[in-house]
Amino acid sequence: MSKTPDSAVRAYIEQHRAAFLDDLAEWLRIPSVSAQPEHAADVRRSADWLAAKLQETGFPTCEVWATPGAPAVFAEWPSDDPQAPTVLVYGHHDVQPAAREDGWDSDPFEPVVRGNRLHARGAADDKGQVFFHTLGVRAHLAATGRTAPAVHLKLLIEGEEESGSPYFRALVEERKDRLTADAVIVSDTSMWSEDTPTVCTGMRGLAECEITLHGPDQDIHSGAFGGAVPNPATAVARLVAALHDEHARVTIPGFYEGIAELTDHERELFTELPFDEEQWLRIARSTATHGEAGHTTLERIWARPTAEVNGIGGGYQGPGSKTIIPSSAMVKLSFRLVAGQDPDHIEKIVRAWAAERIPAGIRHEITFAAATRPCLTPLDHPALQSVARAMGRAFEQEIRFTREGGSGPAADLQDVLAAPVLFLGISVPSDGWHAPNEKVELDLLLKGVETTAYLWGDLAENWRDAH
Ligand SMILES: [Zn+2]
Repeated sequence: MSKTPDSAVRAYIEQHRAAFLDDLAEWLRIPSVSAQPEHAADVRRSADWLAAKLQETGFPTCEVWATPGAPAVFAEWPSDDPQAPTVLVYGHHDVQPAAREDGWDSDPFEPVVRGNRLHARGAADDKGQVFFHTLGVRAHLAATGRTAPAVHLKLLIEGEEESGSPYFRALVEERKDRLTADAVIVSDTSMWSEDTPTVCTGMRGLAECEITLHGPDQDIHSGAFGGAVPNPATAVARLVAALHDEHARVTIPGFYEGIAELTDHERELFTELPFDEEQWLRIARSTATHGEAGHTTLERIWARPTAEVNGIGGGYQGPGSKTIIPSSAMVKLSFRLVAGQDPDHIEKIVRAWAAERIPAGIRHEITFAAATRPCLTPLDHPALQSVARAMGRAFEQEIRFTREGGSGPAADLQDVLAAPVLFLGISVPSDGWHAPNEKVELDLLLKGVETTAYLWGDLAENWRDAH
């Protein structure tokens, strides 16, 4: 357990809070919208601004890394203990588009504080959550009397997360030797709520494909030919109908092979979260839950793999009737994957499964998009325990564990760097990511600062004990 006196950390944060918020506001004024070409110069300015600020914070190495798209920022601050573990913090400095007329109460790029909330595009997603690391490391040094952090600290802050990170994996592969780490900490996530601080321990992966079925060379008369040749729309419907069994389990042979099943302890931790299914259904704009038998809703969205139909079509869809056998039909499928599932394997078994089910006389094509791997950090991982403990000290309450049903670039870091990924975020669902009036709760932002002030010392000690 780190001995950093909490009061010293808090005093330091209180003393530097105003300057920290002024700096953050300055950064938020840079409209670093990666999706809009007219803001390309602003994204570059945002990267330069951050690199300069990290240098001012004390990071001896601060670099702006060009990509074929928007630049990323890399910073490094080695520990004075050569045996210390290396931690890589991930975040992004680009933001979603925003305009006053989208429904903002004030200019999205002119930060305003209302009560305990700082409103601006990027306040929570993700500039605020990147920025708490700057004051956090200063507080860590001040309270411990160190001149360098207790861990080898690296930061990689990408510039096009909001545009789908098109060059991110290539960047990580290319700079792999600079980025090596024992653990990756992603600060681009939310907690359960203000009252229930949580650490996310994993995200699902994603594989996507489109299947096109071709029957007759052109639409043909359903009277002259119907009943005597295969119909691609029928074939696609049969394929979709065969995806799940009556227990809503995916029937593709090998689909569940090797997956990390939830332990009793993990299932119990899920039930401790204050989950209100009625309210969740309202957010889901649905009237009933549905899913794999034997699992709760949280288990289904966080810890179980899925096969979903995203789109299906074929044949005549205009007004009235058109008595044809259509020449083609299609379906778009996506699979959310959990730890233990390999997207390459999923592609192979989906191809084999479809080929076996499509009748003679129907030709088919399957194209897979680039996949995202799942990531999951075991609950007993020493770095995860350190994050939960550091958060617990900052929030002065027990920290619970969640997962994410979605998929993100964190998986590339886990994959390329072969390091576990942990999610340290202080945002809450009401922060309005990608929406008008995005905000961050100032007291939570400062809890983020405080968490990182405790984290590096705890991690260094705990890691040493665990190895
Ligand atoms: Zn983000």
